Amino acid sequence: MLTIALSKGRILEQTLPLLKKAGLKIADAELNSRKLILDTNLDDVKVIVIRATDVPVFLQHGAADIGIAGKDVLLEHGANGLFELLDLGIAKCKLMVAARDEGKLKQSTLKIATKYVNSAKRHFEGKNQQIEIIKLYGAMELAPVVGLAHCIVDLVDTGNTLKANGLVPLEHIENISTRLVVNAASFKTKNVQIKSWVQAIEKNL
Ligand code: AMP
Repeated sequence: MLTIALSKGRILEQTLPLLKKAGLKIADAELNSRKLILDTNLDDVKVIVIRATDVPVFLQHGAADIGIAGKDVLLEHGANGLFELLDLGIAKCKLMVAARDEGKLKQSTLKIATKYVNSAKRHFEGKNQQIEIIKLYGAMELAPVVGLAHCIVDLVDTGNTLKANGLVPLEHIENISTRLVVNAASFKTKNVQIKSWVQAIEKNL
């Protein structure tokens, strides 16, 4: 049995067609049900659809063999016990520092609103900047506008959300896209099965 963990939300819509091209189909009735473990067209493959941030956790504990998650999530969580095998090239965006203007970054202690606490720490530690992190779970763009933080660290795609809130992208931290990762132990024990799926997906990218 192979268990594949998919990230809910915008990644899911773009992942399903890739799986379908590789021969793995999930019926709409399964996707629209409230079931948490979904059957596929193959008896030996199950799919779980979970929050993106939980995908590396399920994989690391061996509760899933293959996972699909954004590089932002993998960077933030850490990839101990996981192998990143494919860049699926979907949900591309950039992890960036943004503020109302460049001057706002010149602080003795820079207040940063983000959900990417570890990535933000790594970035600013590399610049020897003293920081205070304010962890948020959404609407990061609001923080500098209401004076909660000097800047944010967040994903930027078109830049429209920043613009609409009077913010500008200032520093690039990472290029982000969706990755296929595997549990390192599963990769040994189910090597043939995992490799054939990875190859089938890669062939259709
Ligand atoms: P945009 O206005 O196109 O720059 O999109 C920015 C908003 O969408 C921010 O709230 C981001 O957190 C979110 N976002 C952009 N790209 C992604 C992505 N690939 N995955 C998840 N969230 C994203």
